[in-house]
Amino acid sequence: MTSQPRDSYDVVVVGSGIGGLCCAAMLALYDNKVAVFESHTHPGGAAHGFSIEKDGLKFQFDTGPSFFSGLNPDLPPKSSNPLRTVLDAIDEQVECIPYSSFGLLFPEGEFVHTPEFDADVLSQFGNAQAEWKSLMKFMEPLAATVAALPTAALRGDIGVIKSAAPFLPKLILNPQPWNNLLLTQPYSEVLKQAGVRNTFLKNWIDLLCFCLSGLPASGTISAEMAMMMGEFYEPDAVMDCPRSGAKSIVDALVRGLEKNGGDIFCRSHVDKIEIDVRGQAVGIILHKNGQRIRAKKAVVSNMSVWDLLKSGIVDRKHFPAWFLEDREDTPVGKSFMHLHVGFKASREELAKLQAHYMFMKDWSLGVEAADNAVLLSIPSVHDESLAPAGFGVLHAYLPATEDFATWEGLDRKSKEYQQLKESRSSYLWSTIEKVIPDIRERVIVSRVGTPLTHQRFLRRYKGSYGPAIKAGEASFPFPGTPVKGLLLCGDSCFPGIGVPAVAGSGLLAANSVSLDSLDAQIDVLRKFRLRQSSSLIRKQ
Ligand SMILES: Cc1cc2nc3c(=O)[nH]c(=O)nc-3n(C[C@H](O)[C@H](O)[C@H](O)COP(=O)(O)OP(=O)(O)OC[C@H]3O[C@@H](n4cnc5c(N)ncnc54)[C@H](O)[C@@H]3O)c2cc1C
Repeated sequence: MTSQPRDSYDVVVVGSGIGGLCCAAMLALYDNKVAVFESHTHPGGAAHGFSIEKDGLKFQFDTGPSFFSGLNPDLPPKSSNPLRTVLDAIDEQVECIPYSSFGLLFPEGEFVHTPEFDADVLSQFGNAQAEWKSLMKFMEPLAATVAALPTAALRGDIGVIKSAAPFLPKLILNPQPWNNLLLTQPYSEVLKQAGVRNTFLKNWIDLLCFCLSGLPASGTISAEMAMMMGEFYEPDAVMDCPRSGAKSIVDALVRGLEKNGGDIFCRSHVDKIEIDVRGQAVGIILHKNGQRIRAKKAVVSNMSVWDLLKSGIVDRKHFPAWFLEDREDTPVGKSFMHLHVGFKASREELAKLQAHYMFMKDWSLGVEAADNAVLLSIPSVHDESLAPAGFGVLHAYLPATEDFATWEGLDRKSKEYQQLKESRSSYLWSTIEKVIPDIRERVIVSRVGTPLTHQRFLRRYKGSYGPAIKAGEASFPFPGTPVKGLLLCGDSCFPGIGVPAVAGSGLLAANSVSLDSLDAQIDVLRKFRLRQSSSLIRKQ
């Protein structure tokens, strides 16, 4: 990383989440002088990695995401995975360990989810298997539509006519074009039209939706599910465990940025995005030394919509009232309880476990209820590099079901806070015990993270997972703002929450900075199509 920023760049990106990094890496590829400024000591935002050392033992943890697919450089790229599109465009790879199963701990029993999920598990629940098959059939044209127009082909200006044109025939030739309208509807509408009534199946899909968007099927946009189902349930689908954790994705994006002349500065909190008298974003001011950095073309914010508009970083007088009202009222998704543990375990013991478990205590409470769903990730099952031999790491968390209000205003050094941490993490410990009964005797290091931790280290308003925008009621906005030269990316923007989605938002923001990028964008798309067709030929 460079040590000292210049006084001027073409584009300045505020925040190094996956959205900000993808945006910056693409802008650097498009020949812009670009710099990313990040408050935290590590880049990556929700996807940053951190390590804890004790008695000479080093444990490497992921802060957030651990479910990935479509990244493996040995497998053909899919147009529906914008993160892979960015990695391919900047010619960077993430080494992945493929795997295809994870555990389900449900009130009905314990199951292993494999590519034969319908035959192995759904067949035990009435007509769930038959309904699943109908759903998959129903989803085919929807998935084809999502795949037909990659996010990489979009941009926020007139150039979209040229960049998207090669993809339109496939979109229009869809055998059931009217079905495309369903993509903007809640996924519950797709379930209804596909005839899904089985209770177990509906519960399972609610949980899948919730893990993806932070909302059940009734609030999750069908386009996101069409994208995800394609990756998850294709006959040869595998999941990717990135070697060394999500950090390796962040590292690959930083490498891509830097090799094309971009800069990234951590411990560099941005105090102000400057907007001049003409109402144009012209640069930023750094907190640590008050340095003013000019942005000749644009400032791109990777902050959440609330952090951008409510933290004082922008002067609100430059935004029309309708914009402020509309965006500030974006519903705030709940926060997390985290438990990271480094523990004793031999390779043989780890090999008997799954790398992920989804736990659900009681379906009748709903997937959004507190102390109900838990996600447990044990990446050491596949990746030996995260802990010394004889040890492993795990991360258990309440997936966006923790109320920020319970924690708001507490002093992190107070006894009350410590006690609350202990009591609120007990549900996570008891869930881990269902998989590793003697986990407490095996612990070497453990850390409890609360909504305040999430807010502080990830700089997320109220420690939120992201906008709880319900499909059918509103939609995730595009990157433009009423302030000229100020663009947005990240999970407050289209297409939504999740690593592939925010990568798409970064691509879209990069494509929307100026028309100068049009030829370079078309070149990226051409290479992408070539890569896809050559891997198809190899497959045949
Ligand atoms: C526990 C958890 C598990 C998840 N699991 C998955 C999963 O398995 N698969 C998946 O696809 N997705 C998952 N997600 C979602 C995914 O991680 C996020 O949607 C995505 O990483 C958010 O990226 P972003 O670009 O919006 O930026 P963020 O990650 O929010 O990063 C924004 C960055 O901006 C910085 N910043 C903010 N303000 C300033 C400022 N003023 N100056 C400088 N820097 C600033 C912040 O420090 C931060 O680094 C998970 C999320 C969490 C929390």
